[in-house]
Amino acid sequence: MKKVLVIGGGAAGIMAAISAAADKNEVILFEKNEKLGKKLYITGKGRCNITNAGDEEDFFEHIVSNPRFMYSSFYGFTNKDMMSFLENDGLKLKIERGGRVFPESDKSSDVIRTLENALNSSGVDIKLNTEIESIIIEKDEASGCDRCSGVILSGGKRISSDAVIVATGGLSYPATGSTGDGYNIAAKAGMKLKAASPALVPLVSDDVWIKELQGLSLKNVEINIYNSKKKLYSEFGEMLFTHFGVSGPCILSASSYIGRYLQKEKLLLSIDLKPALSVEQLDKRILKDFDEAKNRQFKNALDKLLPQKLIPIVIAKSGISPDKRVNEISKEERSNLVSAVKDFKVSICGFRDFKEAIITQGGVDVKEINPSTMESKKVKGLFFAGEVLDIDAVTGGYNLQIAWSTGYAAGKGVNDEL
Ligand SMILES: Cc1cc2nc3c(=O)[nH]c(=O)nc-3n(C[C@H](O)[C@H](O)[C@H](O)COP(=O)(O)OP(=O)(O)OC[C@H]3O[C@@H](n4cnc5c(N)ncnc54)[C@H](O)[C@@H]3O)c2cc1C
Repeated sequence: MKKVLVIGGGAAGIMAAISAAADKNEVILFEKNEKLGKKLYITGKGRCNITNAGDEEDFFEHIVSNPRFMYSSFYGFTNKDMMSFLENDGLKLKIERGGRVFPESDKSSDVIRTLENALNSSGVDIKLNTEIESIIIEKDEASGCDRCSGVILSGGKRISSDAVIVATGGLSYPATGSTGDGYNIAAKAGMKLKAASPALVPLVSDDVWIKELQGLSLKNVEINIYNSKKKLYSEFGEMLFTHFGVSGPCILSASSYIGRYLQKEKLLLSIDLKPALSVEQLDKRILKDFDEAKNRQFKNALDKLLPQKLIPIVIAKSGISPDKRVNEISKEERSNLVSAVKDFKVSICGFRDFKEAIITQGGVDVKEINPSTMESKKVKGLFFAGEVLDIDAVTGGYNLQIAWSTGYAAGKGVNDEL
C-alpha cells in the first residue's frame, strides 16, 4: 500500500484520487477551496459537458496542443469508460448535438455528487480548505535521482508520502481556485514550462466602430483569420460582437489556434456575411434589392440584406455615400459593397484575460512527462494530471476528457512506477 497525496479537487484530481484508491492505496486529496469541483460546477453553463461520445479519432482531432501525448492515457481510460463509470454509479447521461455528453438532469451538481460518492466509497481522505504551498524533493539514495517525498501545507506542516499527484489546473477562471500553483511546483522540481496563455477566449478589436455592433449575433457566417503572411484559421458557424471585440463559438475555437500568432502581431478577421452566395450571386441579389427600391437612398436599401446594426458599418466600408440614390450606384461601387459583405474586416489586437478564458494553453511541458503514467521524467514519485499540463482542446467535452484520462493514468501510474 502506497501513501498518495493528490493536490487539487477538480476533475483531474478527483479522478486521480479515485483511481489511486481503487488499487488499495492510502489516498489524501487536498483542495484549497471549501468544496470540491468549483470549476466543474460552472462547466457547460452549469450543465457540465462531461465528455464527447465521438470515436477515438474524433477525440484526437479536437485536441489543439499535444494530441499524441494523449494516446496512452486516452486508450487507458476512454470517453466510453468515463460514461460507464458515471452510469454504474447511478448517474443517467444523455448525448446531444455534436456528441456532447451531459447528465440527464442538466445539473453539473449531480456529476459532482456522483464523483464525491465514488471518492467516499473508495476511502479517499478529503481535506478541504487546505492549500499546498510546495512539494518536498530529496535525492533518492539508491538511484541518485530526485524524488518527491511529500508536500508542505501553507501553514508549514509537512506530510510525507510515496507519491504526489499535482492536479491544480491552469490559470483560467482563477476565482474557481485555478491560480497556476502547479506551475510553481513544477518549476521547483526543475521542470520546463510552456508559457501559459488564455484560450477558448473572446478576441479584442481596436476598430473604433466595434462598440456599435455590441450584442449583434451572426449565424451561418464564415470566418477567416490572417496574419501578415497567411491564412491561420477558417470556420463556418456562429459569432457575436461585444463591446470590446468578438466572441461566440467560432471565435472561441479560433482563439485556440491563433494565440501564438496574436502574441506577435495584430491579426485580421475577415467575415463572409453571405457565405452561401458567390460574388456573382450576391451582386445579382443586391441588384434585385436595388431594383425594388429604385429611388431609395442607399442607406435605406439594405434592410433585406443585412441586420440593422451592420448597415452603417458596411456602408462606411463600401465607400458609397449613404445618401446616394440606389439607381445612381455604379457597377464598381456595387463591387465594393459586395466586398464589404463577403470580406467584412475586423482588426484583432489581443485576447481577453484569463478570467474569461475557458482553458489555459501552455503549462507543464509534456516532453518531461511519461505519457502512460503521468510521472515526471525528472523527479520520481511526482505526477501531473489535467489542465496543469500543456494539453488543451476545443469545446465539446474534450477538455474534461483530458482531465479524466490523465487523472486516471496518474492514479494508476503511482503503482506502475514505484
Ligand atoms: C466556464 C467554463 C466552462 C467549461 N465548460 C466545459 C465543459 O462543459 N466541458 C469540458 O470538457 N470542459 C469545460 N471547461 C474546461 C474544464 O472545466 C477544465 O479543462 C477542467 O475542469 C480542468 O480540470 P482540472 O482538474 O485539471 O483543473 P481545475 O478544475 O482547475 O481544478 C484544479 C483544482 O485545484 C485546486 N488547487 C489549485 N491549487 C491548489 C493548491 N495549491 N492547493 C490545493 N488545491 C489547489 C483548485 O482550487 C481547483 O479546485 C470549462 C471551463 C470553464 C472555465
